[in-house]
Amino acid sequence: MIRLTQFKNVSTFLRKNSIKYYGTHLSSINPDDKYDVIVIGGGHAGTEACSAAARMGAKTLLLTHKFSTIGEMSCNPSFGGIGKGHLMREIDALDGVCARCCDISGVQYKVLNRSKGPAVWGPRAQIDRDLYKKAVQNELLNTPNLDIYCSSVEDLLLSDLNDSDEDSSKTVKKCNGILLKDGTKINAKTVIITTGTFLRGQINIGLDIRPAGRIGDEPAIGLANSLEALKFRMGRLKTGTPPRIKKDTIDYSNLIVQSGDNPPVPFSFLNERVWIDAKDQLNCYMTHTPPSIGELIKNNLHVNYHVTQDANGPRYCPSIESKILRFGHKPHQIWLEPEGFDSDLIYPQGLSCTLPEDLQHKLVRSLPGLENAVMARPGYGVTYDFVDPREIYATLETKKVKGLFLAGQINGTTGYEEAAGQGIIAGANAAATVQNKEPLTLSRTEAYIGVLIDDLTQLGTNEPYRMFTSRAEFRLLLRPDNADFRLTKKGFEMGLVSKKRYEHMCETKERINKAIGILKSIKKNTSEWREQLGNEKTRAQAYRSAYEMLTFATDDVEVQKVAKLHPEHLDWIKDDRSVCDRIKIEAMYEHAIGLQSRAIEEVRQDEGLIIPSDIDYSTNALSLSVEEREKLAMIEPQTIAAASRIQGITPSSIVQLLRYVKRRNQRQAIN
Ligand code: FAD
Repeated sequence: MIRLTQFKNVSTFLRKNSIKYYGTHLSSINPDDKYDVIVIGGGHAGTEACSAAARMGAKTLLLTHKFSTIGEMSCNPSFGGIGKGHLMREIDALDGVCARCCDISGVQYKVLNRSKGPAVWGPRAQIDRDLYKKAVQNELLNTPNLDIYCSSVEDLLLSDLNDSDEDSSKTVKKCNGILLKDGTKINAKTVIITTGTFLRGQINIGLDIRPAGRIGDEPAIGLANSLEALKFRMGRLKTGTPPRIKKDTIDYSNLIVQSGDNPPVPFSFLNERVWIDAKDQLNCYMTHTPPSIGELIKNNLHVNYHVTQDANGPRYCPSIESKILRFGHKPHQIWLEPEGFDSDLIYPQGLSCTLPEDLQHKLVRSLPGLENAVMARPGYGVTYDFVDPREIYATLETKKVKGLFLAGQINGTTGYEEAAGQGIIAGANAAATVQNKEPLTLSRTEAYIGVLIDDLTQLGTNEPYRMFTSRAEFRLLLRPDNADFRLTKKGFEMGLVSKKRYEHMCETKERINKAIGILKSIKKNTSEWREQLGNEKTRAQAYRSAYEMLTFATDDVEVQKVAKLHPEHLDWIKDDRSVCDRIKIEAMYEHAIGLQSRAIEEVRQDEGLIIPSDIDYSTNALSLSVEEREKLAMIEPQTIAAASRIQGITPSSIVQLLRYVKRRNQRQAIN
């Protein structure tokens, strides 16, 4: 990989790597062309969708407003994090675009949650916005089978699939293409809508309200009308973005510094390292809100239209107004994040707000370190339409219109990674439909993407949905380190994943299995291991293999250390850091995964078990959390399967409940 440090600055790097900026590169459109797949929208869902469909060999067209906003990060300049990092790894395992592009555009890489087990580590990177966009644009321009055309899509071309009955909401239609703003019709066998926050988008600053999908971009009104006319159940959501601050006007001297990892860990399984050296990474800084902002926000609600909007905002990424109104005046953390190497802007994460501009200025200057800060532009809010995701199948095809798929924020999610994860599934399935292949669906036991889509399509959402590790019941199996073993083969078999990546995964698996075999065969007394590895945890006297020693969740016992002790067997692996780390993680989780797999099987076998209607969830025989007791008592699930789908009920609680109901049934049978 060519590294930034070899060049003076980002622009030279881009030139040397022929990542060019194409202002107006467009395919020419011939209305007689018939596409297999049309993707509407060049955001994070759209870029993954069009790339996936084209990789599968489908003749694909990406239609989006502007070439320059393909891959635009509308809000935070970062990718990954807890739960989101898992999605990134899964997208990469399916040969997606975003992870590889982040590996060549990050300014700081950091794995979050390191104090917890590797199953919930969250690979994250602070990204150079401009570089990321250019990397994505470059990738798409070099994707065979993909045309790109910039225009606004206004309507869908539809035909009746069967006789419409009286209730038009049940009419099954077929989507045959789209209609552009200038009246051009383009035919396609399938269409994927990924229009993000643009459906009837409206932005707000103070009392100023104007139609826009995001600042500087027109909203999508025509398409919103088309979906409404088709009687899709729709709702309204809102989100917001913070003001941007001039980098050089902040006093960093008393702020808490957060630096990147050394070495930085790449997102993509294909990369051994990222494009920058550890020492070239940029820092983030932390400040906090002072008590005075409580008054500022509360006294000015009458000039803050967005907060009074009757639409739900993101619960886990709320505006500063929501935090103050919900949690009061306690200090809230604000992270000051660089927007890129050549950018003079700082993104104050946690300060999303919609106050009038002059009050935002006052708010910014009240923060420690920002007393003299200059606000480059104000924050704003956006409200938009979304489609109830229960209107779509797990393939992301709509139930009402055959050949029409929806992916991304239009389905009620929030976040680049959530959008990208849906995009790749919709793209693969649109191509699979055309090619008469089996669809790609991922279960909750296979992938976080599976959890995301299952939650959306089964439960729907009434607030912007984002991914957390707590949403996944099978966290020990769905780790960021093993996403390729879980998904790459499946993707390869349907033509979504390249031979190169599949072979890379097989090779890695072979190396890991070979090393594990050797580690299992090297056996010694624990006292000898203790002496050689310096591990204090192994008190018991026993004869243990090197692999068993690795199961101790301490850093003392590493594959590299064992390799040094036994170079005759393991010299070939000692410098392969990624494989050594993966073996250690496998070993640490082996026992727990065995238990979890048995629990999964137990639940699977009895998921139809009826839960008695008079069950008392407050009983001490069940050690459930208060939240779990409340949710179960309120929802009254009829079966174990229904209980397991309630958000926030952990797998171990489901196993407990299952065993409790069985015991109760047995007791009643005896009496
Ligand atoms: P987008 O990235 O929005 O892409 C939509 C694309 O569709 C655009 O390229 C647009 O030009 C194109 N398009 C739309 N309509 C048409 C049409 N009719 N014809 C042709 N092209 C069309 N996420 C968070 O996780 N946390 C946050 O705090 C957060 N804050 C946000 C604040 C704002 C102001 C905005 C706008 C978004 C915010 N997001 C936030 C959301 C995040 O940006 C999205 O989740 C993510 O970008 C969604 O990806 P997407 O592909 O679904 O849509």
